[in-house]
Amino acid sequence: MKKIYLFGNWKMNMSYNEIATFSKEFNAGIRTSTSLTEKTDFCLFVPFTLIPRAVNELRPTAVGAQNVSEYDRGAYTGEVSAAMVKETGARYAIVGHSERRHIYGETSAQVNLKALKCLENGLTPVICVGETLDERESGKTIEVVREQLCTGIKNITADATYLIAYEPVWAIGTGRAASAHDAEEVCAFIKTITCVPVLYGGSVKPSNAAEIFTQPSVDGGLIGGASLRAAEFLNILKNYRSFEIQA
Ligand code: PEP
Repeated sequence: MKKIYLFGNWKMNMSYNEIATFSKEFNAGIRTSTSLTEKTDFCLFVPFTLIPRAVNELRPTAVGAQNVSEYDRGAYTGEVSAAMVKETGARYAIVGHSERRHIYGETSAQVNLKALKCLENGLTPVICVGETLDERESGKTIEVVREQLCTGIKNITADATYLIAYEPVWAIGTGRAASAHDAEEVCAFIKTITCVPVLYGGSVKPSNAAEIFTQPSVDGGLIGGASLRAAEFLNILKNYRSFEIQA
């Protein structure tokens, strides 16, 4: 049985009250089936304001933040430091999500500082990398991923705990996932540079989980839209596990 990371990114969705509904369904789902929790690491990346409640309601499932500041403290209005996130009970943080890179202009150098701040403060960073459609179509996928990855992990020591999420920008929220072959090719390339778990993200759903998660270099998924409903999120894992049993 392969170890799977099933990570959900809620983005700027869900409310204080909606967490209760999600948690009830999610907790019941994992309680009734040990085959779901065995060899699976779950984490839900929720908006900052919902972290304490999610930590409480989803316990023992891990909770993460979707971003942290590259600074420790001071005059950075609107920012939240890794130390502040750690105090909430979160265990992970996403850094360098493509929406941060493309909407807010985050650079790979900033992503690197954020990852280092996570590690300094006891959070496990999930460093996201991925090419745009233009970059893929002009044959630059590996070049782009190499730059984002090598800069993103600069000065991170070999014994540090972190994960990489390969998320092609054109696959995020579009319903058009990368083919299993393309996901494997890039995840395998990432593993030639760093030996950490590599997740695939981009329109993962119950119907395509098995073909993607069975790829040898894919250790699980970072899931956006399909993580907002507990049943759909868990069905991603259920479908993969039942495929694995039959194989
Ligand atoms: C994401 O937000 O990281 C993501 C992969 O979204 P979706 O699964 O909706 O494509």
